[in-house]
Amino acid sequence: MHHIEQIFINGEFVIPHGTERFDLYNPATAQVMGQVRLADEVDAERAIAAAKAAFPAWSQTSKQARIAALKRMHAAVAVRHDDLLAAVIEEYGAPASRSAWMASYPADVIAQAIEALEAFEFEKTAGAATVQMTPLGVAGLITPWNSDAGFICGKLAAALAAGCTAVIKPSEMSALQTRVITEALRDAALPPGVFNIITGRGETVGEILSRHPDVAKISFTGSTNTGKAILRNAAESFKRVTLELGGKSPTILLDDVDLKLAIPRVIQAGFMNSGQACVAGTRILVPLSRKVEIEEALALAVTGVKSGDPRDNATDVGPMVSEKQWQRVQGYIRKGIEEGARLLAGGEGRPAGTQHGWFVRPTLFTEVSNQMTIAREEIFGPVLCIIPYQDEAEAIAIANDTEYGLSALVLGRDVECARRVAQQILSGRVLVNTLAHEPKAPFGGFKHSGVGREMGEWGIGAFMEPKSILG
Ligand code: NAD
Repeated sequence: MHHIEQIFINGEFVIPHGTERFDLYNPATAQVMGQVRLADEVDAERAIAAAKAAFPAWSQTSKQARIAALKRMHAAVAVRHDDLLAAVIEEYGAPASRSAWMASYPADVIAQAIEALEAFEFEKTAGAATVQMTPLGVAGLITPWNSDAGFICGKLAAALAAGCTAVIKPSEMSALQTRVITEALRDAALPPGVFNIITGRGETVGEILSRHPDVAKISFTGSTNTGKAILRNAAESFKRVTLELGGKSPTILLDDVDLKLAIPRVIQAGFMNSGQACVAGTRILVPLSRKVEIEEALALAVTGVKSGDPRDNATDVGPMVSEKQWQRVQGYIRKGIEEGARLLAGGEGRPAGTQHGWFVRPTLFTEVSNQMTIAREEIFGPVLCIIPYQDEAEAIAIANDTEYGLSALVLGRDVECARRVAQQILSGRVLVNTLAHEPKAPFGGFKHSGVGREMGEWGIGAFMEPKSILG
């Protein structure tokens, strides 16, 4: 059993004022594997005060000093790779296909922030004005469970690079990852108060952060509904807000697509992180002329996807993070059948060979209309929909007929045509014949997928305001 009893405020581990114990589950066994003592409103106030006190000195540090601090953070996080690997597998059942990436990404994203900071121009000229990029103040950083350590490191590195100080509220479901990362960041020996990490509930600690007058910026990754609540709460004090929210991303197969190359990409895009990924390509748009052929190829591929023990190297899809999420995915599969979609693979219940964990069957529907619930709502599980289209114009129209706009994938032999389609998709990122992520590029969403961008110069700039000095 894990007992996590401390939070990190003003440079030291402390016992929280909050006394609530929150159960931590291993989703592969559905058993309690630990407890975390949660921070409360008093702890949030203390953490904000510590970050506020540290801001004047940190905001005046030189670029070199910040780069040196980020390098120490990078080294300290990188040496905890194996601990992070164990944590992501035990805590949310990250499958073998994902866990290695999850364990190395937190250090990688700090390295990417260092590169962006090295190139960042803090001062520019605009006509007669000198424009100084000025840090906003205390930043509240709120993370989801599906990549907790990565988001803590990415958001914190960008905030510190900009000259902000931070209060981090990790997901309450990610206490193991958070403990590893907090210990690592403590070892990086930054000045007290520059960052504070307080695991607590969203409706207490998260709410305080998004309403508090001493917090100038919120950077949040999580669900669209929570993002809306944060935006409303933050409005009162005019906080700057970056929101990275949900998605219902299209994967468009063009009529000249090479299925040998495309099918593995469709599967990977749809089932990454066990389908619990904001960028998952869950709406598969296929030309009517090749529908039957694609259905056969995808049904075969989905049937071959292994769902089960996340510690097994052959596992592609691990358990859902919680019983609630398991029930939710089952509900969407039932809804798909009720609304008239046809199952090609998977379905309700657990996959063969699994018993107690929150395992689901990788599922593929066809004859899905873009108006059905399973095509409109983010399921956050391994459930894919095939939606047919007549021609390129209809493919683009269906791709854009969604509340979301986070990511899209276009697959086709004629690269010029694929790029033409990509240009017309309203989405923060469009991948053409690749799944490779580019960390130097801005990341974020249109419409209900979010506000603002992270990564690279855009990520650092999101913690700053330009100030024009004339005369
Ligand atoms: P969630 O919205 O339930 O929780 C995210 C965080 O917000 C948690 O730390 C939670 O405690 C906190 N929170 C909850 N209520 C709050 C409130 N009222 N005020 C402030 N904070 C509050 O999301 P989740 O289930 O942890 O994560 C899954 C969601 O995150 C999915 O919708 C997914 O698409 C999205 N996501 C988006 C991205 C992206 O980059 N766009 C990346 C990963 C996940």
